[in-house]
Amino acid sequence: MRYCWFFLFLWIPLTAAPPAKVYKPLRTYKISLPQHAKPLIILDPGHGGDDEGAKIHSFMEKRLTLLTTLCAKKYLEEMGYRVIVTRSKDVFIPLHRRVSIANKTKAVLFASIHYNSSPSPDAHGIEVFYHSSSDLKRQKGSRKLASSVLSELLTCTNAHSRGVKSGNFHVIRETSMPAILVEGGFMTNREERNHLRDKKYLEKIAKGIAQGIDKYLK
Ligand SMILES: [Zn+2]
Repeated sequence: MRYCWFFLFLWIPLTAAPPAKVYKPLRTYKISLPQHAKPLIILDPGHGGDDEGAKIHSFMEKRLTLLTTLCAKKYLEEMGYRVIVTRSKDVFIPLHRRVSIANKTKAVLFASIHYNSSPSPDAHGIEVFYHSSSDLKRQKGSRKLASSVLSELLTCTNAHSRGVKSGNFHVIRETSMPAILVEGGFMTNREERNHLRDKKYLEKIAKGIAQGIDKYLK
């Protein structure tokens, strides 16, 4: 019986202590909202698959747009936004499909990302398009978004500004939320093309797009 008490004392501390919990570090966001409440943004990398976009030998617009978009997505997610991209790999997505991806969601805005080309090798700089739709509220939002994104792009890259322009592109005309189309530089201009070959420069463009969107939404 003496031994029974001894074993009881041993047993109590061993069983009374709950197992230590393992906590995973929480990811921190600038906006502390539940996942479903975070604003949703649609990013649209231009071209893809058989549609290569502008092309200088093996240097293709479709690759630049995808790299820039995935980087901008990362920046926006770090800022606390949800992001859907219309393509995340080198596939062809028709324009109407890109629009329907955006219009089916409750996205707060849509941004299509492209790079420019011109018969004139001197043409250079960044321009951002919006659509002058009959929906004046959407038009006003799109123009304000375009101005914000262009301003941040210029700050991040020191590139030449070609301004905010009205354009009749399918993806910014048919989407139902404020929408812009970014032309991040001319692949046909030698100096700008050299910048665009540098991944760090594409990161600056992505950062400018993300910061411009963030400033527009705040
Ligand atoms: Zn394009």
